[in-house]
Amino acid sequence: MAQHTDKITQWIRPEIRAIAAYHVPDASGLIKLDAMENPYTWPEWLVDAWLEQLRAVGLNRYPDPAARQLKVRLREAMGIPAGMEVLLGNGSDELIQMIALAVARPGRVVLAPEPGFVMYRMIAGLAGMEYVGVPLRAGDFGLYMPAMREAIRRHQPAVVFLAYPNNPTGNLFGRDEIREIVELSPGLVIVDEAYAPFADETFMGELGKHDNLLVMRTVSKMGLAGLRLGLLAGPKAWLDEVDKARLPYNINVLTQASADFALKHHDVFDEQTRRICADREWLFGKLRDMPGLTVYPSRANFILFRVPAGRADAIFAGLKEAGVLVKNLNGAGGPLTDCLRVTVGAPEENAAFLDALTSQL
Ligand SMILES: *Cc1c(COP(=O)(O)O)cnc(C)c1O
Repeated sequence: MAQHTDKITQWIRPEIRAIAAYHVPDASGLIKLDAMENPYTWPEWLVDAWLEQLRAVGLNRYPDPAARQLKVRLREAMGIPAGMEVLLGNGSDELIQMIALAVARPGRVVLAPEPGFVMYRMIAGLAGMEYVGVPLRAGDFGLYMPAMREAIRRHQPAVVFLAYPNNPTGNLFGRDEIREIVELSPGLVIVDEAYAPFADETFMGELGKHDNLLVMRTVSKMGLAGLRLGLLAGPKAWLDEVDKARLPYNINVLTQASADFALKHHDVFDEQTRRICADREWLFGKLRDMPGLTVYPSRANFILFRVPAGRADAIFAGLKEAGVLVKNLNGAGGPLTDCLRVTVGAPEENAAFLDALTSQL
């Protein structure tokens, strides 16, 4: 056993050993409000039509490596500007990884605002790059531009990731601030629009106006998290290079057929999205009226809130005891101390969450 450990120390890269594995908690039997999933399933007629479509899929063949049909559908559904190229990933997580692999060199930097999406840091580590987190403003989690300018100047990042809206804070950064970051950055700037369906704001229209801007999307948060499909849009010259870091058949046949089918029926998702946005406003109002909470306005399908000092772990455990799983961000420390994040669920799930929370406060 000891020898085993020695060999691990000898051969596993130190930056890999230093990473804590991404932990996904067991949610069995719980109301799942921790991972920004869409709570709604499909009407039965749609499920039947989908299964019928899958009959024609040949599992014996490799998928179309370029996923041509699906890309045409995605271009339309996501409003990709004419002249811009599209690259697909097994979730946008894989796209982040492909970008990092394409630029990685010892000492090169991935930069992102903090608190932000944990995968930027994690994948930078996997790729053997340095990660620089730049603090957001304390009060409202907006970009703190003096720190951002200074960090970009000092670290000359190969890639800057900006989640728009940001996770886990839920806010949209200022458009002019993002434009300035694009202008100042020597390398790529990726605007990560994972929550675009809930925000009605996008940088798609800016593609091609800057020589270093790419926009990333995913179908996960709009209701297809199980498919694992993300998209990177931008100038062909950039995407051709990033594409070289992609394994040839990364989007499997079932995902290609299912996503194509689902996006053909996007009105179902549009309706669910409208519902979730309306319920987000309702839930925000209820949380804001609760004594002792600080609630942060959200343009995504989740809400960040701060509980009375020192109570987050106990409240999180109490919610779980009552059958509701949210995300406990208290362990992240810093500006997320005392913070929990709740995904907007179906109305009865939101009500159960509020009941459970009320009895904890
Ligand atoms: C959830 C999330 C993603 C990951 O999306 P997948 O396509 O499911 O991998 C990317 N960026 C942000 C900001 C997210 O919150």
